[in-house]
Amino acid sequence: MPSRERNVTGIVLNLLMERGVYWLFDCGEGTQQQIIKSPIRIGKIEKLFVTHLHGDHIYGIPGMLTSRSYQGGESPLTIYGPKGIRQLIELILETSQAHLGYELHIVEIAEGVIFEDDQFKVETAELDHRITSYGFRITEKDQPGKLMADKLKALGIESGPVFGRLKKGEQVVLPDGRVLNGNDFLGPALKGRIVTILGDTKPCPNVVPLAQNADVLVHEATFSEQKKNLAMKYDHSTAMDAARAAEEADADALILTHLSSRYQGEDINHLLQEAKQLHRHTYVAHDFWNYVVPKRSVKE
Ligand SMILES: [Zn+2]
Repeated sequence: MPSRERNVTGIVLNLLMERGVYWLFDCGEGTQQQIIKSPIRIGKIEKLFVTHLHGDHIYGIPGMLTSRSYQGGESPLTIYGPKGIRQLIELILETSQAHLGYELHIVEIAEGVIFEDDQFKVETAELDHRITSYGFRITEKDQPGKLMADKLKALGIESGPVFGRLKKGEQVVLPDGRVLNGNDFLGPALKGRIVTILGDTKPCPNVVPLAQNADVLVHEATFSEQKKNLAMKYDHSTAMDAARAAEEADADALILTHLSSRYQGEDINHLLQEAKQLHRHTYVAHDFWNYVVPKRSVKE
């Protein structure tokens, strides 16, 4: 439930630097209101990933879709979600006679790779919740090093086809007989990052492979360990369960979300401390909070 301090689920992966867009994960009621209060532009949401079809994760979708249209969003939007998402969205749009000014694609997902291009790969696996719930593993692909143009210019070589070949790491023989090796003119390659965002779940075997070596794991922590019985009963996790998963997966930062509205003020700090006993690098997300995923250090 939303509370005065915390809204229901809506997580943005800010990819402005990488591809000029945002990816949204779940869209609970009130998400567009929260977006309006943030620097995020709704028209720049390129993809919406839906973990599962419980109301606190999806009741904000129709309003977000139609506002995106009013605000001049013209680029296509793709929604990925469990079976049933298509019927749900099409029925609402049709019944309310909403017409979107952009292409809407809806993909009903199964486990495996659901999206891949030369920048990113998104994989899913099923979790263990009362209804079908997915986790998403977003992998940024490694990027080749930058060409050191200054170093080449100092050797009297101007940009052109030679630059292109060196950039691919090729060996180039110049007309004057000099031999250049591409690798001598490339900066360090950047290793891609991994972000794992999970839907609601109790501890289950697919969590660790989804989060293996992730730079960030976003994991629900609906209850404290004291309420483990409730977590088990409602197919949710405790803060400690989340921390255990982060440890097992060797993930770096753990971000706890989806706290029960019973936890307010100092209780939230208790949840954090509980998780930190097992995984030191842990945060509790609060509304409008950001975590910057650090660039990975140089790949040797
Ligand atoms: Zn749920």
